[in-house]
Amino acid sequence: MSNLLNFSGGPGVLPETVLEQTRQAIDAVPEVGLSILGISHRSDWFAAVIDETERNIRQLLRLPESHAVLFLQGGATLQFSMIPMLLLRGRQQAADYLRTGYWSAKAIPEARREGNVRIVWDGEPTGFRRLPRIDELTCLETAAYLHYVSNETVEGLQFHDLPGHDSVLRVCDMSSDFLSRPVDPERFDLIYAHAQKNLGPAGVTIIILRRSLLDQSPPGLPVMLDYRAQLDAHSIYNTPPVFAIYVVLLVTRWLLNDIGGLERMDAINRAKAACLYDSIDRSAAFYRGWAATVNRSLMNVTFRLPTADLEADFVRQSTAQGFSGLQGHRSLGGIRASVYNAMTPAAVASLGQFMLEFAKSRA
Ligand SMILES: *Cc1c(COP(=O)(O)O)cnc(C)c1O
Repeated sequence: MSNLLNFSGGPGVLPETVLEQTRQAIDAVPEVGLSILGISHRSDWFAAVIDETERNIRQLLRLPESHAVLFLQGGATLQFSMIPMLLLRGRQQAADYLRTGYWSAKAIPEARREGNVRIVWDGEPTGFRRLPRIDELTCLETAAYLHYVSNETVEGLQFHDLPGHDSVLRVCDMSSDFLSRPVDPERFDLIYAHAQKNLGPAGVTIIILRRSLLDQSPPGLPVMLDYRAQLDAHSIYNTPPVFAIYVVLLVTRWLLNDIGGLERMDAINRAKAACLYDSIDRSAAFYRGWAATVNRSLMNVTFRLPTADLEADFVRQSTAQGFSGLQGHRSLGGIRASVYNAMTPAAVASLGQFMLEFAKSRA
């Protein structure tokens, strides 16, 4: 097994240079002389880590000052609750939710605890194999907000356009495609993404929110669930995950300096995904892509083989050749190759080649 061939859906692969610097930081952070695992979160050094990480994210996204950046805990799953606590609690209007796959479906019951939820579109009747076209959606201009998942990690479905009205708050779970491509942050009111798919280890979740949303904070929120308190404390209200945030810093430096920004990252990601979809399409009698072609994800390439036995055989053979993490999500089965930012084009090419050879040998 090799880190280079880790196609896991999450936690995902990290750049080799980041792993190398992380190993070094566990021994001693060069500027400090102490292990990253034992440096105070109240140190000037860590304050500078938070500042630079935020600056790098701002630079990568061209994020305006109207939006704040927060580093919180509790994963993306806690955001399923914190968002409706802020934007739905005590309100008349319903929130609009798109139910497009495993993760967006998980967000909905949490929102229902706080208020009315309207499912604008439900992909379950069509087996979560496609996303709605923008013209199919009947989002309400009076909704409290619209919530959707930009990349359904389990099914491998990704929006390549923007649902909703610009006059309605747009809230997006970007956990599995954050910083993988440019987005226009002005068109989002709240973006959240945990680190462990594209950005670093589990333990930190990045929130980008329009500061003016905090004017509507309901009273009486527990302090840890109150974005305003977290913002006032500069994301250091209590002990933050110093280690996870430091690795995210290293990844943002890698994106800026080694990759050269999100346009470049996007071009690389497009080429990687195209390589695997090409292997699927060239063996179309053997591999069946899960997602409708127009909704194919650049991050999670999902497909089936003719039988469950062949899928098990595929996982076995690929593992024997050093690939890992190709088994589909437990809720869906099949095969999933996750090709997050740090997955190298060379590793993807070798998987593409393996797929062609496997199909030929079993046909
Ligand atoms: C993995 C994933 C989650 C779950 O995140 P946790 O950090 O484990 O709570 C939520 N949303 C999406 C889109 C994901 O891919």
